[in-house]
Formats: sequence, structure tokens, C-alpha cells
Amino acid sequence: MDTRIGFGWDSHAFKAGVPLRIGGMTLDHPEGLAGHSDGDVLLHAITDAMLGAVSAGDIGSFFPPGDPRWKDADSAIFLNLAMEELQHAGYRIANVDTTLILAAPKIAPIAGEMRARVSELLGIEIDQVSIKAKTPEGLGLDHVAQCHAVVLVERVQEPDELKSMSAVIESQRQLEDVVDDLLASVHGVPKKRTISPVYDTEDIT
Ligand code: MG
Repeated sequence: MDTRIGFGWDSHAFKAGVPLRIGGMTLDHPEGLAGHSDGDVLLHAITDAMLGAVSAGDIGSFFPPGDPRWKDADSAIFLNLAMEELQHAGYRIANVDTTLILAAPKIAPIAGEMRARVSELLGIEIDQVSIKAKTPEGLGLDHVAQCHAVVLVERVQEPDELKSMSAVIESQRQLEDVVDDLLASVHGVPKKRTISPVYDTEDIT
């Protein structure tokens, strides 16, 4: 079986006055997660894991922080993009495993409902989605929610390169390579590294 694996991680600080969105659900809690989008730390980690599984960049490549289009955006949008990238690459999800790290609220009582919601968003069965949670013991990070995610994907068809957004980016890179080769051959200019897609380390998506 042709399989690949992807890993994703995200963190958001708690903030008063915004709804707490985790796993595509609104949770009953006095504080939400700060972020340019809805701050859904679980969906962001899964999105990065899915993109990583097919080497399609990361959430910041597609949704640069600060872009007004993604202000308060439902993070299901990011998940949908990652699902399209997976499909275009010819893969489907085998399973998703996640670990949330946060002091509160308790996730265990609602983990089943959250697994159902995430599996619905991903179009897979609930037993393909695992959501675990731990408290940040000894880390001094009670004001932060973090999430780790791994996704195993399996090949179902040949990649659909023409429709893939990451394939477009690859084409731009290849175009830059051609230009660099021409410059190097004509002017003797050393070949420089091609420009990567936009990525901001202060990603707040
Ligand atoms: Mg995020």
C-alpha cells in the first residue's frame, strides 16, 4: 500500500470575549482562542498534517495571516482546502490522531461528539478520527491551547497535477528555475534559491 504521513502542530492563546471553537464546535467556556480566524487549534493542526502528508506546504502558504478574507473565518475552510490538496495528489485519509494540550475546558466528556464533528468535516468514519487531550502539566502554559496531529494517507489514484494549487506553486518555482538558469548561462549570475510561498512565522490563522 502506498502511504504517506503528515504531522501538524498549532497553538493559540486564550482570550476573553470570543467564542471557543475547537474541532468545528463552539464550546461552553468563558474564553475563546485568539486568532485571525476562529482560532480552531485542532482543525489548524489537522490541516497542516494533511498538507504535510502530500508536501503541499502549510496553512500559512495558502492563508497568510492578516489577510482580511480570513478574519474570523470558519477553520473548516482551511480543512476543505487541505482535503482538495489530498484528493488532487491522489490520496485519501486512512486515519487522524490528535492530542490537544490545554488546561480547560475538559475535552474527554465531549471527545466523542468532537470526533463525530471532525469526521463529518473530513468525510470519513468516526473510527478514523482520534481526539485525545492532556493538561499542560509543568509547562506554565495554562493560558494557551496547543494541538498535535498526525495523519496517515493512502494512495487511491494518480495525482491530478493540473488542478492542484500546490502544483501551480511548483510551476512558478520551475519557471523561476528556468529564468535563473538563463541568467546563469547568459550573465554568469550564480543560481539563487527560488522563493518559497509566503509564510509568516507569526502565523495566527
Ligand atoms: Mg492556528
